[in-house]
Amino acid sequence: MLTIDAHLDLSMNALEWNRDLRKPIAEINAREAGLTDKPDRGKGVVSLPELRKGNIGLVVATQIARFVAPDNPLPGWHSPEQAWAQTQGQVAWYKAMEDAGEMVQVKDVEGLEKHIAFWNNGQPNENKPVGYILSLEGADSIVTISHLERAYSYGLRAVGPAHYGPGRYAQGTDATGFMGNAGRELLKEMERLNIILDATHLCDDSFWEALANFNGNVWASHNNCRALVNHNRQFSDEQIKELINRDAVIGGALDAWMMVPGWVRGQSDPKAMNCSLEVMIDHLDHICQIAGNALHIGIGSDLDGAFGREQCPYDLETIADLQKIPGMLKKRGYTDIDIENVMHGNWLRFLRRALQ
Ligand SMILES: [Zn+2]
Repeated sequence: MLTIDAHLDLSMNALEWNRDLRKPIAEINAREAGLTDKPDRGKGVVSLPELRKGNIGLVVATQIARFVAPDNPLPGWHSPEQAWAQTQGQVAWYKAMEDAGEMVQVKDVEGLEKHIAFWNNGQPNENKPVGYILSLEGADSIVTISHLERAYSYGLRAVGPAHYGPGRYAQGTDATGFMGNAGRELLKEMERLNIILDATHLCDDSFWEALANFNGNVWASHNNCRALVNHNRQFSDEQIKELINRDAVIGGALDAWMMVPGWVRGQSDPKAMNCSLEVMIDHLDHICQIAGNALHIGIGSDLDGAFGREQCPYDLETIADLQKIPGMLKKRGYTDIDIENVMHGNWLRFLRRALQ
């Protein structure tokens, strides 16, 4: 079944992990033998061939670069200009993948319809370019508000104002506090340019401020439920209700610590913690119970977000295994239409509206 994954950090993997994502996943992992600089070395689950194998024809792909002030212990750039430059390198990689026929950017409804029709043409996927909608995870790299229009012109269509920690425009995961003037100006400009607001990673204060000050389209690309794993990174039921009111779609994430309670990074084991794909369905189902329907959920796997097999469901070997999800939903009593909506229909409905 055609699948849309609303959150992958492909360019970060290409440029910071030095992964040539055109290669088979076994080859990418083999090349990392002996490397210890990242926890997921040799354990990657995402490559362009695996996306094709999994019939994942469209993804939301990020640019990501954090600015850190001297008192911020997180890794990041020491100036917004450096962060901007990093994101421009990421754009250059996406464009290089387009030149190579490996990917194609989707930035309007016309392009979306054309791309989806091509992926549904019944031909094998091997030579089909993977479609991507360009998103920015954390807005620190937007040096001045006018940089947003420059970014829109090269295809940026969604912005999550924050990532981890304090940001220049909003406060993110594990931080607290409001967006302030700069953040509200960013939201205004996003609204003018018709850029999607990604509510993922906003801390509670910034989340509520963002939704109160933004009248455009809102989604949450990769977010699980606080009711199941209690952490500020996850949405409370109140937040989920508000997102449903805004006709948002929320992407279920496959990062183990966000799926099962009590996960300890670098120590816990997916099998021992009972972290399987079924657990993601528990999170999706929780949102469906609040909504009273299956119209507000999708997949936002995050499967290349600085973790791999050591920190994802044990019954997932590569991202192609997202194709197990329809069968699991069926067993839970979801109808065929519900299942199509979860795998692609809800994101498509949202995008048809948002990219107009
Ligand atoms: Zn994230």
